[in-house]
Amino acid sequence: MTDSGRDDRDADDRYRIETRSIHAGQEPDPETGALMTPIHANSTYEQDAPGDHRGYEYSRTGNPTRTDLEENLASLENADYGRCFASGMASINTVLNLLSAGDHVVTGNDVYGGTHRIFTQVYEDYDLEFTFVDMTDLEAIEDAFREETELLWLETPTNPLMSVVDIESAAEIAHAHDALCAIDNTFATPYLQRPLELGADVVSHSLTKYLGGHSDVVGGALLTNDEELDERFGFYQNAVGATPGPFESFLVLRGTKTLPVRMDRHCRNASEIAAWLQGHPRVERVYYPGLESHPGHEIASEQMDDFGGMLSFELDASLEEASEVVSNTEVFTLAESLGGVESLIEQPAPMTHAAIPREERLEAGLQDSLIRVSVGIEHVDDLIGDLKQAFEASLK
Ligand SMILES: *Cc1c(COP(=O)(O)O)cnc(C)c1O
Repeated sequence: MTDSGRDDRDADDRYRIETRSIHAGQEPDPETGALMTPIHANSTYEQDAPGDHRGYEYSRTGNPTRTDLEENLASLENADYGRCFASGMASINTVLNLLSAGDHVVTGNDVYGGTHRIFTQVYEDYDLEFTFVDMTDLEAIEDAFREETELLWLETPTNPLMSVVDIESAAEIAHAHDALCAIDNTFATPYLQRPLELGADVVSHSLTKYLGGHSDVVGGALLTNDEELDERFGFYQNAVGATPGPFESFLVLRGTKTLPVRMDRHCRNASEIAAWLQGHPRVERVYYPGLESHPGHEIASEQMDDFGGMLSFELDASLEEASEVVSNTEVFTLAESLGGVESLIEQPAPMTHAAIPREERLEAGLQDSLIRVSVGIEHVDDLIGDLKQAFEASLK
């Protein structure tokens, strides 16, 4: 598992993801036998003659710690190629770098806030056009395509209502229009969902979330089976320069080793909490794709191996009462972001989605009392006990 070419990928296929997460891209150092990938804190590399180097010239272009991470992530997504970036946003930016003025993008009306921002506040100024549609409605996706559409960008499950998009059908629509289909797989992770196997051309990740897994690093990645695309991404790594350093790459490699065990616990805890919330008299609605009542349950069951650690719920309460609930938790920390080992809680209306006017927010189904949680891997009884005491302290 030393190189990222197809032959090595095929050799990797003998192993399951639990094994690959620990071993892929991580051979012991040939010189010292060191088991773990060293942090190659280094900017430049010796050449024996001009142009005659051992694979590395300059660390923006390539760094061995980063290479190991790229191979590891490619293996997790069953991809032939992987490229890492300084953040999830830098990955998304790199996909947009493929486009030219006049091109059109179809995307979801509930994409990550930062994605919406780079689309509308950066790339509209470069004459790209974006159409935001309800991605659970395949006809709406189809209708949004134009002659100039070059990219379909989607997330599933989405934030914060955990809507589920049918990846295979969406990719088919994109390809029928000769457009690329890119999927932000941050919420599901490759342990639960592998969009390239379902027809997507590119997978994008914020490594900051589950892949890093410990809320201590920011990073991004792009995975693909298309050699030409991978070369373009490599060109942009070097030409634009939004690459992660060796320390960040090391931290994410440390995280991916435990991705499968962490995800198993995230999923189990989230599913127990979802069931508990559903039986609570002050909870009006629970959004978790693992619940049969969730509109995306059927598609999620087909395209995901489990339902993830993210969920949200509406209380029979005012915005202020819900704010008290999220302020009164002791194990759940009131904070934005997600995907770490610790449980986080937040209220979209006054926090992550505060920029959206209230009328629009309600129309999109985001009630004032909506609460989103990133379920961590603590003991589930402590998490449920914490929600219980916060409800009792806050709800009249
Ligand atoms: C966090 C996040 C991003 C952005 O990633 P950063 O690492 O914060 O730049 C993109 N997409 C989704 C779904 C995210 O949750």
